[in-house]
Amino acid sequence: MHIVHIAVEMAPIAKVGGLADVVTSLSRAVQDLNHKVDIILPKYDCLKFSNVKDLGFHMRYSWGGSEIKVWLGEVEGLSVYFLEPQNGLFWAGCIYGCRNDDERFTFFSHAALEFLLQTGSHPDVIHCHDWSSAPVTWLLKDHYRHHSLGKASVIFTIHNLEFGAHLIGKAMAYADKATTVSPTYSQEVAGNPIIAPHLHKFHGILNGIDPDIWDSYNDKFLPVSYAADNVVEGKRAAKEALQQKLGLKKADLPLVGIITRLTHQKGIHLIKHAIWRTLDRGGQVVLLGSAPDPSIQNDFVNLASQLHSWHNERARLCLMFDEPLSHLIYAGADFILVPSIFEPCGLTQLTAMRYGSVPIVRKTGGLYDTVFDVDDEKDRAQSQGLKPNGFSFEVADAAGVDYAVNRAISAWYDGRDWFNSLCKLVMEQDWSWNRPALDYLELYHATRK
Ligand code: ADP
Repeated sequence: MHIVHIAVEMAPIAKVGGLADVVTSLSRAVQDLNHKVDIILPKYDCLKFSNVKDLGFHMRYSWGGSEIKVWLGEVEGLSVYFLEPQNGLFWAGCIYGCRNDDERFTFFSHAALEFLLQTGSHPDVIHCHDWSSAPVTWLLKDHYRHHSLGKASVIFTIHNLEFGAHLIGKAMAYADKATTVSPTYSQEVAGNPIIAPHLHKFHGILNGIDPDIWDSYNDKFLPVSYAADNVVEGKRAAKEALQQKLGLKKADLPLVGIITRLTHQKGIHLIKHAIWRTLDRGGQVVLLGSAPDPSIQNDFVNLASQLHSWHNERARLCLMFDEPLSHLIYAGADFILVPSIFEPCGLTQLTAMRYGSVPIVRKTGGLYDTVFDVDDEKDRAQSQGLKPNGFSFEVADAAGVDYAVNRAISAWYDGRDWFNSLCKLVMEQDWSWNRPALDYLELYHATRK
């Protein structure tokens, strides 16, 4: 099959959140199964060009009152076509955040289809993502229906229903199949008026992570390589490197890591409470977070200065986006906390496990599908053929956080052998795309019948 992704994020060159990881890692998994996969992305001026191999001019065409230059390059082994409209829509220094984002991405969606048309490309499947490439669905079915391009099936994936609901609603009507990124989130949103009329073509497929991109054995950001059989030594070295880098006390303490966009969705008040609870229990905390909203950013700047005065050796808030540091935290932490209010899938808990860190999560969406509480959910884990792998809580309040964090930290202090074997166990669980890529392929095939 020939599959084309039309997307506005792609890891690691244009990443804001999980959408970027999924575009890259799902594509790689499907390509590894011997299908042809191409990606079309805007050529932002802020792309991380150092991660693009062999970038070269490919062609130019005129559309929408602008000349569009197309560049071709390789990212993580994938062919990526970069569209650069000369009207400057993507010379804004950012991916999102312009007042005319709707216009920018509608232009991009249409320009991407026009590029496929003008190059005589006949993909079997066009896969688009979230509100930003939602217009592909109706443009393909209306505007291009008389062209052979219009015979392509269109798959639409919702990574987060929170943004661009009007565009998502329209895409749901036009897509041949729609997916969201975990079974539980698909159930949670099934009653939403945007989704409810389309349940017959709506599927929840769990995201995976790319084991080659997230690989503690081959990770240039870590001080030593490690795998499940030397997880204890590997994580000890990573913890020391993390403590050293951030100026924290070099001590063997339970370390809770948090890697997140700082938005309401991620449970800001729960994160704050967990920081204080961990410190009360004698642990260390490292938060890596970027806040798009300046008032949330200020709030965390203030919290950072309080922590600086009272717990300078045990807490560090790094308020930025920093991919290399995220790797060191995944490896150096004992626990990764994800207390989301809602979470379509969540990749941080999966990456945490890949690096032998134990997840502490709220039971919602994909967090519920992937984390099984060691005390409460042995049976639920077993029903999935898994062993329990973390700590979880249900109610989004301080008592909920306490319930999970207290048990996690006690387990760390009270039973190091047991805790170390839990780190090994989570590393050995398979949260790759092996299974979900097959589910996507089945869906792609279903649209061709
Ligand atoms: P979302 O897409 O809602 O932000 P996900 O858990 O699906 O949440 O994906 C988040 C991704 O972004 C993960 O790969 C995580 O490691 C990464 N990430 C989040 N915040 C940061 C940050 N401040 N610095 C580096 N990486 C981050």
